[in-house]
Order: sequence, then structure tokens, then C-alpha cells
Amino acid sequence: MICNHCGQELQDDSVFCTNCGNKITVQPTQEVSCEPQQTTQPAPAKRNVFVKLAFIFSIIGLCLCWIPYLGVTISEAALALSIVGLVLKKKFTLGTEKAKTALTLSIVGLVLGFILSVVIEVVIELAAQGY
Ligand SMILES: [Zn+2]
Repeated sequence: MICNHCGQELQDDSVFCTNCGNKITVQPTQEVSCEPQQTTQPAPAKRNVFVKLAFIFSIIGLCLCWIPYLGVTISEAALALSIVGLVLKKKFTLGTEKAKTALTLSIVGLVLGFILSVVIEVVIELAAQGY
């Protein structure tokens, strides 16, 4: 390998240059380039607002799933938001896992909402019949 400070030929396992004394930093390519290294900074993390909203809505939907229509409506909104969040996930660096969680939560909220609204309707019907 070659010292990237002075160009001295060195043993491959050298830690410090025997010529200039600088610490050897291992580079992917062993060639010494004069060009300034491109420091590609990672894109600033953008929060996926849809996923965030979907997460909030799915939890609210779960909490309110026992209220006929309201819980189902909120869960539907959460489902729509999490799908939008998943579709747009490439535009964001965060939120894929959260989007899946929100999707699951909103589906659970929907199913629970439907089951509970059916149960409540049956209970009301039974109550109306005098049981
Ligand atoms: Zn050197």
C-alpha cells in the first residue's frame, strides 16, 4: 500500500507511515487521488407525515372501535393514510416499518369496529325484542 500523505511505499499492515509519520487511513482504492473526496451526506431524514397521521388515527380508531360508525370511519381514514404513507415511502427516509404497523393497527381497528358494530346491532335488536 501507499501512504496517502507522502506517497511512500509501505507494508500492507502498516499503521503509521515510516517516511512522514502520519497515520495510514485505509482507502477503498489504493490510488492516491488529488480530487477532493465527495462527501455524500445522507439526505436529511424527512418524517413521513402520512405514516405519522396513520399511526395516530389507527390508535384512535382502535380506542373508539366500540363506537358504531365513528370507530370504523377513523380506522378507514387510518387505513387510507397508511396506504398513502406506504406508496410515498420512497420520498421519505423514515417510516416504512411504522407504516406497516399503522396499516396492521388500522386493519385491526376496522375488523374490531365491524365486529363490534354487528354485536351492538344484535344486542339492540335482542333488547328491542324484549330479551
Ligand atoms: Zn507518509
